[in-house]
Amino acid sequence: MAMATSPHNLLLKNPNLTPLKNSIFNNPITTTTTNTNTNTRFNLTTKPISIKCAATSQTQTPIQAPLQTQSHQDRVFNFAAGPATLPEKVLLKAQSELYNWRGSGMSVMEMSHRGKEFLSIIQKAESDLRTLLNISDDYSVLFLQGGATTQFAAIPLNLVNPNDTVDFIVTGSWSDKAFKEAQKYSKPSIIWSGKSEKYTKIPSFHDLEQNPDAKFLHICANETIHGVEYKDYPSPKNGLLVADMSSNFCSKPVDVSKFGLIYAGAQKNVGPSGVTIVIIKKDLIGNAQEITPVMLDYKIHADNNSLYNTPPCYGIYMCGLVFEDLLDQGGLVEVEKKNKKKAEILYNAIDGSNGFYRCPVEKSVRSLMNVPFTLEKSELEAEFIKEAAKENMVQLKGHRSVGGMRASIYNAMPLAGVEKLVAFMKDFQATTFFGISATFRSSMTQLSLYAKALFC
Ligand code: PMP
Repeated sequence: MAMATSPHNLLLKNPNLTPLKNSIFNNPITTTTTNTNTNTRFNLTTKPISIKCAATSQTQTPIQAPLQTQSHQDRVFNFAAGPATLPEKVLLKAQSELYNWRGSGMSVMEMSHRGKEFLSIIQKAESDLRTLLNISDDYSVLFLQGGATTQFAAIPLNLVNPNDTVDFIVTGSWSDKAFKEAQKYSKPSIIWSGKSEKYTKIPSFHDLEQNPDAKFLHICANETIHGVEYKDYPSPKNGLLVADMSSNFCSKPVDVSKFGLIYAGAQKNVGPSGVTIVIIKKDLIGNAQEITPVMLDYKIHADNNSLYNTPPCYGIYMCGLVFEDLLDQGGLVEVEKKNKKKAEILYNAIDGSNGFYRCPVEKSVRSLMNVPFTLEKSELEAEFIKEAAKENMVQLKGHRSVGGMRASIYNAMPLAGVEKLVAFMKDFQATTFFGISATFRSSMTQLSLYAKALFC
């Protein structure tokens, strides 16, 4: 019998073969941490559980997770553009369920994607997302892989024929990448580009010259690198609007019925990387080009409820926890209010700095999620980033293609994080005179003291 020779069974039979004795794994999982937002203390303790070995009928204490103690001092304010900060409540919930998901005796990472436990997870995630965005039954919700980048190819492959014209508005690097990939599978044309103005604007919709026969109009709802965000949406001539919402997905209410297709990588606002969500009008499914790989065919995924092959199970579970959290917060109307408040505080600090800090983006289209800014004296930017990191505010460097700084303040960035950043910015400005920062001045003072000690 397989059981009789399994390493686990050997361990149970021979007490000398217990390499885990006295190991750090012999402590119960005890986690104490403080929630930054609410100051609520969480005390998550899982009791040791006993398992029975069929071959020996012995009861054993299983391997247990290491003792971990955390406090919120261990956590930084992470302004990364993605993967990005996740809600602390969600992380703690996932931690408490990591080892044994709701009494199933296994982690979500170990579950069969076809088992009833995981089915309940993916179905709940979908239904909560439908509630959040008020998605009607006319739309399929797909949990896919390959990032939003894969969708740059999947969209033309599924929606049009190789000779079909499609329109692109290029407001930044991401819509430009989407346009370039679409060239392989369709005949895209750029009907507006913000490149000459360094991607700081969204066009006025009246002036758009859409191709009369364009099969869809593609936009990037929020350009993560440049920090420009649509506040309203253009109406395509044929009614089919396609939007990359990777970096503002679930950050505010969206009227899904205006779109033929919405897609988003999860790793900014709704979960870890590895999950891509596609919301597509059902009547657009089923017309993929013949060359479409099976993994890019929406019909395959829709017919199989996103379970055609092994999905990113743990990532989907995490997205589900985030959706639950967003609903607990009162839904996207409430979430948007918080995001507006955070963004307002930060933009006000930039605009009120007498030019010390600058945001190049036109005010009316500034992103609530990604805030790029520069220093008037660009030679101080590296120091700004270094000093901020010392204060536990990390990942503030702008994208390598644009430089400067960028603060990504997604849903999960607490107000306290933005307030701390703004206080730091004011302090940095106040201690910087004539282009020389406080730290530089103090290093120079130190140097001159050394020099005096050396030569006097
Ligand atoms: N679109 C936007 C708006 C993005 O921000 C990103 C990633 N930063 C992508 C597409 C590409 O996503 P992925 O890395 O998941 O392929």
